[in-house]
Amino acid sequence: MRKPDKQVCTIYRGIPASPGVVIGKVFLLDRESIEVAEEKIPENEVAKEILKFKKALNDTKEELLKTKEKVAKRIDPDHAKIFEAQIMILEDELINNAVVEKIKKTKSNAEYAYKKVIERTIQTLSTSKDEYLKERTMDINAVTNRLIYNLLGIKHLTLESIDSPVILVARSLSPGDVVHMKKESILGFATDMGGGTSHVALLAKSMGIPAVVGLKNFFDQIRDKQTIILDGIRGEVLICPDQQTLKEYDKRRKYLLQKSAELSELKSLPAKTQDGRKIELSANIELPSDADSALEYGAEGVGLFRTEYLYIAQSGFPTEDEQCKAYLEVAEKVYPKSVILRTFDLGGDKFNGHAGSLYETNPFLGWRAIRACLDLPEMFKIQLRAMLRASVKKNIKIMFPMISEVQELRQAKAILQEAKDELRRKRIPFDDQIPVGIMVEIPSAALAGDALAKECDFFSIGTNDLIQYTLAVDRGNERIAHLYQGFHPAVLKLIKQTIDSASKNGIWVGLCGEMAADPLATTLLVGMGVDELSTSAMAIPQIKKIIRSIKFEDAKKHAQEVLKLSTIDEIKKFLIEEYTKRFGRDNKNKFV
Ligand code: PEP
Ligand code: MG
Repeated sequence: MRKPDKQVCTIYRGIPASPGVVIGKVFLLDRESIEVAEEKIPENEVAKEILKFKKALNDTKEELLKTKEKVAKRIDPDHAKIFEAQIMILEDELINNAVVEKIKKTKSNAEYAYKKVIERTIQTLSTSKDEYLKERTMDINAVTNRLIYNLLGIKHLTLESIDSPVILVARSLSPGDVVHMKKESILGFATDMGGGTSHVALLAKSMGIPAVVGLKNFFDQIRDKQTIILDGIRGEVLICPDQQTLKEYDKRRKYLLQKSAELSELKSLPAKTQDGRKIELSANIELPSDADSALEYGAEGVGLFRTEYLYIAQSGFPTEDEQCKAYLEVAEKVYPKSVILRTFDLGGDKFNGHAGSLYETNPFLGWRAIRACLDLPEMFKIQLRAMLRASVKKNIKIMFPMISEVQELRQAKAILQEAKDELRRKRIPFDDQIPVGIMVEIPSAALAGDALAKECDFFSIGTNDLIQYTLAVDRGNERIAHLYQGFHPAVLKLIKQTIDSASKNGIWVGLCGEMAADPLATTLLVGMGVDELSTSAMAIPQIKKIIRSIKFEDAKKHAQEVLKLSTIDEIKKFLIEEYTKRFGRDNKNKFV
């Protein structure tokens, strides 16, 4: 779509992903379509152009071979096969000869000739009835981009290399992109794709980078360097704001700062209801350095360390020593409070854009989290040994993600036992009584809660996934974001059932999904009986304020009332009314 030359001030509404208001110039990240224009080559330069093409083929092949080796070593040879398929495309005589012929015949530049030949190939494949051939178009696109970058002599843009303050606008980003953003240069970001609990959104929150996702077709409406306002609380982006609007947003920004300063006064006070029920309020973190801001916001420990970000940050598996160092760093920072180390939850939306990506039709239902770890026991054991080695001060707990049944938990515990035995043989100290828990984030685990509770020390409810798997709604898909509803009665019943299974079996139960950060949900969750809420650090003060202002006895009644309701609308209406009675009208926005 052609972008209009001039813009009037327009508001685009998306999904709030990470709070904060920023004003700045746009940096347009256009990775998907590399503009390739036709340029005519003089007759005497045709041979040189063909050589340039052949060199680019070789360079790209070498790059792919290196990536393949890296993946084979770090993951396993099977997953490196995707690169073999891509190398075969580069070696395809039919394609390559057609490109050379086109350069000779039409005197076109190599990148244009290649793009045209590839377009024709993709068109032929897409009409094929063979599903395997159709799927090859993904590989062809990946190879084409690499080859054209090499022909044009362009380096792949990394977000680390942006150094002036900008607001990044992209069609989509991967968690790997966000983890490499520098807060000083990326004021905020806006994407067409993504949902409010996609890992891109969660990471932005942890890093304190305001963001709006799911803007659908915003990218095509915006130009590089235009000034925009991004409001990560309301989920809005304003293009070309006038002076009056800029003034209003400046006022809003100051108001938000003042609110957060008021809330920070609660930092050292406990999250205790007025009648004495203590709730542990902890933080979710992605990288060891996040532990500092968790403590600054008053977290009582780390309720979820998403350790897979160690992999994402360096595009490969960290060694046992590197992992041990990272876990120790967090454990020491929060000591004597504790940290829950979740074993790698890779897959789903967290391989995107990385070497090692494997093509799956339904990645969230695929080779993810504990499933991948049980398939790669040696890699898993390295992680478990690193966790154990970091546990000497006894403030570490281990948690397995995506457990769906007891057998899976037993398998994971058996590998943990092997890791313990290995350390014992080498006389390396660790916490022999290290608590082991699971994330309850698949409906089957919630329904099998009673059996699971008998075989582990704690539960942490992962509502981000529990919602998507209960309602069959992809958490990262902006098109169906309106169907992603945590206050669905079925989701609430599963949460309640999980809490009841835990308390019946005398184990501790926390909740570390984004629902823990939703002020509308706090009284309900406390009333249902959670022991802990773990959330992005910046949400902690507001949730603490709510806990400190309610009575546990009232919260229990509130929860009973909610569980009697049968539609999402009724539940939301009830929660909003109750919240407004206590806190006033305009306070129900997250983090305000
Ligand atoms: C969850 O699913 O709620 C959760 C906390 O884990 P993640 O967001 O990393 O999938
Ligand atoms: Mg999850």
